[in-house]
Amino acid sequence: MNLKLLVKKEVSLLRAYQAKEIPCSVKLDANESPYGFSTALRAVASIRTNRYPDPEAKKLKAALARELGVRPQNILQGNGSDEVIYNLIATFGGPVCYPTPTFLMYGIISQVLGEKTVSVPLDREFDLDEMKMLQALRKNRPRIVFLSSPNNPTGNCFSADRILKIVETSPGIVVVDEAYQPFASDKGFLPLLKDYKNLVIMRTLSKVGLAALRFGFLVADEEIIHEVNKVRLPFNVNALSQAVAVEVLKDRKALRTAVRTIAAERDLLKRAMEDISTITTFPSEANFILFRVADPDRIHAALLRRGILIRNVADAVEGCLRVTVGTPRENRKFLHALRSCMEKSS
Ligand code: PMP
Repeated sequence: MNLKLLVKKEVSLLRAYQAKEIPCSVKLDANESPYGFSTALRAVASIRTNRYPDPEAKKLKAALARELGVRPQNILQGNGSDEVIYNLIATFGGPVCYPTPTFLMYGIISQVLGEKTVSVPLDREFDLDEMKMLQALRKNRPRIVFLSSPNNPTGNCFSADRILKIVETSPGIVVVDEAYQPFASDKGFLPLLKDYKNLVIMRTLSKVGLAALRFGFLVADEEIIHEVNKVRLPFNVNALSQAVAVEVLKDRKALRTAVRTIAAERDLLKRAMEDISTITTFPSEANFILFRVADPDRIHAALLRRGILIRNVADAVEGCLRVTVGTPRENRKFLHALRSCMEKSS
């Protein structure tokens, strides 16, 4: 047997997504929240381990619907929003269109599923290039467009009018990936759902302190939910995650306070980084900051030697690194280490 020939061509050409555990003392590489909700783990004590979880995640959807002001039937649950992306592409197929640089999974999952991708460079401000996007829509007629706003790894929101223009022009569905929306200053696109049938919002609990649960979801028109639900694997969200998420959502104040603290810390961190003359920071509406240095590989390695892990995104954005906002203490450690690495390089 020649395994290389047996594996689908699309898959054999892929490299596995880099989700490695690298030992460090300050972990600021994966856009997680520094604040967890461990007390909510008490909710798992009553779980009957011999039974399958609620396949519809009814309690969790009801809690999310209350929190977001939508109806439970407009929500579709996923094992992280990564799985939601998978299910969307499995449902609608390609071409799949997205601006670049952006979240890598749109492209990777399209490739795994053998679907064509159409990537369109962002403009110099990392905003959508409206003309190029509209051209791509006309030429390729994508079935799905993914717009991460705030965008990972750049950190900015795209202009609302440009997103709307794309929603209005697109022949297919437009997914606004709002993984980082809780940290943004605007309200996001949920209020516009009722006006546009092809608009789909994707959210996750991963960035607000519950990455361990793996829970992401879609909010969309019921007909879209109905179709995507056909490809969703049964019991895709386990009972422990459902129970813990429901428990955490009982205390909205705690969730919101954590998000607000992170957004305030982000602004402080950004200001402090701006004082280092040899780096350029970019505006952020997310829980991370993109910044440019002369030698990203060296700075990334030098920080890691000091125990601080951030993300090297120079492959996607020239000369850039991405740091997740941590606790005030972690941010101070990062700043201290960054200053000393930068001094050594000047
Ligand atoms: N969308 C964006 C823009 C992201 O940055 C991420 C995580 N890095 C995801 C989706 C996936 O999140 P989840 O943990 O819910 O799979």
